[in-house]
Amino acid sequence: MRPTGKLHLGHLAGALGNWAELQADYDCMYFVADWHALTSEYADTQGLTEYAYDNVADWIAAGIDPERSTLFVQSLVPEHAELYLLLSMVVPTPWLERVPTYKEQMEQLSDRDLSTLGFLGYPLLQTADVVIYGANYVPVGDDQVPHLELAREVVRRFRGFFGELFPEPQPLLTRQPRLPGLDNRKMSKSYANTIDLGDDAETVQRKVMRMYTDPKRIRADIPGTVEGNPVFTYHDAFNPDTAEVDDLKARYRAGTVGDVEVKRKLARAVNAVLEPIRERRAAALSQPGRIREILHEGSARARVVAQETMARVRDAVRVTYG
Ligand code: AMP
Repeated sequence: MRPTGKLHLGHLAGALGNWAELQADYDCMYFVADWHALTSEYADTQGLTEYAYDNVADWIAAGIDPERSTLFVQSLVPEHAELYLLLSMVVPTPWLERVPTYKEQMEQLSDRDLSTLGFLGYPLLQTADVVIYGANYVPVGDDQVPHLELAREVVRRFRGFFGELFPEPQPLLTRQPRLPGLDNRKMSKSYANTIDLGDDAETVQRKVMRMYTDPKRIRADIPGTVEGNPVFTYHDAFNPDTAEVDDLKARYRAGTVGDVEVKRKLARAVNAVLEPIRERRAAALSQPGRIREILHEGSARARVVAQETMARVRDAVRVTYG
């Protein structure tokens, strides 16, 4: 995850919840992608480290266990940059130019100059991040699938020159690859439509009450649409009381329930999900030294693996002077 802002419900639904579950079955590595943040935020790097610590507090609060998984910082394992450089020697630039997120992001973030080598190379740096650990799977949202396709192509091309070095990584798609925001666009910090994991109960209540809902329903006695209505997408994602959700949906369709009741019940459900996270987040943030320690220890562990890989890669490329 890139430390570019506070984490929100989209991160929880699309990534963190899944990350926590994966720990039961996989040897997991999760990292703060600070160099990736620089690819678009190079002009303002002030909040970077603060967001990094804040994000990691949210990871821990969401159940990522630093004893079971390796939590680290990309820039504390500089071997990622060395592998990125070596991979870049064999990767044709058109491969990077045709990655769909490249043009999309350039258009969306039009307030910045993204015609940089760093931004073009983003998916290749991501390839290095993944293959340096011989990762088999990467838990991502659907927007990242083309990046992994590129990673597999790069692995095959590198193999053509230097032999078998890395497995081809596959995506591990999450259940909720795109959670809508308060305005029904994708929940994203850049759209100011988020519910943040650190929001207090009152803020959550206020945000839910102003959520986008069926625009055709101007009175509570008009039958409403449930499908594609973000208020119900959220009920399905966060309200464990399925009987209550079914009842609300039936009454919404029949025009016998007001938006206020539906949203009040939603705010209660979201707050019930967030309450334990808020407590653990506050506990984690009250020990900033511990978060730093976790990241340094994790980075040292990751670095051992990365250094082993780089020794093999240097051998294969024949840049060794031992
Ligand atoms: P980002 O903050 O865009 O770098 O995303 C970090 C991770 O969270 C990625 O795996 C995204 O796919 C996931 N993510 C971000 N926003 C959402 C959302 N609204 N719904 C689902 N997943 C999301």
